[in-house]
Amino acid sequence: MNACIFCQIIAGKAPADILYRDEWVTVFRDAHPVAPVHILIVPNRHIPSVNELVPEDEALSGHLFSVAQKIARQEGVDQDGFRLMVNCGRGGGQTVFHLHMHLLAGRRFHLPF
Ligand code: AMP
Repeated sequence: MNACIFCQIIAGKAPADILYRDEWVTVFRDAHPVAPVHILIVPNRHIPSVNELVPEDEALSGHLFSVAQKIARQEGVDQDGFRLMVNCGRGGGQTVFHLHMHLLAGRRFHLPF
């Protein structure tokens, strides 16, 4: 069995609150939310991190933003605002090594954090 928890969710073999799915991405709520809205936008293909993206993934990378925009509207947070975050590598705070974009909203965010 694939040890990657996000691959398991995408394959329907692990539970998740799935909000959206298309041929490229699956979107589900974070299991340990750090904001009232905390959603993960995850490529269906196993890509460990930003470091492993290749030029052929440019359309997929752009799609992550398109889906983030759609989900922010769907969640009703587009006008107040939201944060998109992609952690890369342990130094970047990445803990699940399957590329994903966080969509965070519902509280105030600041830099530095
Ligand atoms: P990162 O630290 O950027 O790799 O983010 C990984 C995120 O995945 C964290 O916010 C975790 O709470 C979340 N997470 C880990 N396991 C699950 C799961 N089974 N379902 C939903 N979210 C998860």
